[in-house]
Amino acid sequence: MKNHPVIYSAEIICVGTELLMGQVVNTNANYLASELASLGISSYRQIVIGDNHQRLAEQIRLSASRSDLVLLTGGLGPTSDDITMEVAAKVAGKTLVLNEESLETMKSFYRRICRNMPVSNKKQAMLPEESIVFQNANGTAPGAMFKAHIPSSEDKEHEAYLVLLPGPPSEMRPMFSTQVRPILEQYNSVRFKTEYVRLYGIGESTAEERINDLIDNQTNPTIAPYASEGECLFRITQKFDKDDASDLITPVINTFKERFGEYIYEVGNRTLKEVVFDMLSEKKLTLSFAESCTAGMASGEFVDVPGSSKVLIGSIVAYDNRVKQQLLGVTTDVLENMGSVSRECAIEMAEGCRKLLNTDISVSITGIAGPSAYSTDKPVGLVYLALSDKNGTIVSEIHLSGNRMRVRKVSVLHAFDMIRKRLLDYES
Ligand code: ATP
Ligand code: MG
Repeated sequence: MKNHPVIYSAEIICVGTELLMGQVVNTNANYLASELASLGISSYRQIVIGDNHQRLAEQIRLSASRSDLVLLTGGLGPTSDDITMEVAAKVAGKTLVLNEESLETMKSFYRRICRNMPVSNKKQAMLPEESIVFQNANGTAPGAMFKAHIPSSEDKEHEAYLVLLPGPPSEMRPMFSTQVRPILEQYNSVRFKTEYVRLYGIGESTAEERINDLIDNQTNPTIAPYASEGECLFRITQKFDKDDASDLITPVINTFKERFGEYIYEVGNRTLKEVVFDMLSEKKLTLSFAESCTAGMASGEFVDVPGSSKVLIGSIVAYDNRVKQQLLGVTTDVLENMGSVSRECAIEMAEGCRKLLNTDISVSITGIAGPSAYSTDKPVGLVYLALSDKNGTIVSEIHLSGNRMRVRKVSVLHAFDMIRKRLLDYES
């Protein structure tokens, strides 16, 4: 897909019987339509269609015969009613081939959530040949973009791009905004420049409130918020006319910096763990984790970053109190009087781990992931994290909402953010 023809027209097809039955509100169409509008691509039709082979194939063929771009969402899951990839590939005349990178990403996703990958998930790594593949940072199904040549009227062939995205909005939106949109910007008659501002530690609505004036008055650049679990992401996009050399993005980023300060962990594309890895490796510092409620998730996440072995020395999964005591040296006094979910325990875990594994920094995580609480004064979602380094030990108490998995995932993000903030202090 090297020479980019201009994409003028698009259609959106949302796949899913639950949409047709009225069980789910079609927010994907709404989101994609406004994204297309901001890209200057004319969106001519929105179609909702059930999980039916024949009707879906007919619809894709029809849409691809008259539009430059067809955006599809839904039906990329592992079950037998998830047929979008297979049907779209067939319409485009492409064979499905195993995409190793997607399979690896999926396996690491399951490792991270401490589950075995079901065999049926492998189906999701079967993608049309010659596709651009979009990895899924928030779920398992990868997305794909590929060409389809469809006979149009009068013996002519029409070339269209098919873009397939997962159904869940929490997966579809970040995939579109960070991976698909930058590609579509290149297929455009006008030019765009996009920058991402990434924040941790502030909720989406609070973040939006702080920049309401900017969002309300935006024309160019446009500002769009995206929330993903525990994090907040803003896209700032400037539209350029021919020969326009202005930079309207930097002033907006400066305003963001003034208003959000240290909540911003990145202006660009790096994830929080990548930022932390870069900071640690620049300073040649080593890291270890002592994990109770996350049971290895923090280290599992961290080793997704290539080169992490230079930084991460090890992790102690101290789930049972005996491990906390015998390996990390947590005292009986603390366990009996304060409990395993306490400031004191977090401190002793981090300090014990740092000593045991001899690292510059050690971070401990102990909390109540639920669903059942220990007692009324220690509710589900209460997590203590401690960071021990040459300057001493700091503790953080957080109260998280959501289910067991969310509590554990956000605890890991919080651990990374504690390291980031601590390292900012090293510089000053
Ligand atoms: P999964 O792997 O979860 O099966 P999928 O890509 O196969 O993902 P679907 O099975 O079609 O997607 O939809 C999964 C869920 O995503 C739906 O139950 C619904 O909650 C949400 N969803 C799907 N399509 C839309 C849409 N157009 N608008 C809003 N939400 C949607
Ligand atoms: Mg599905």
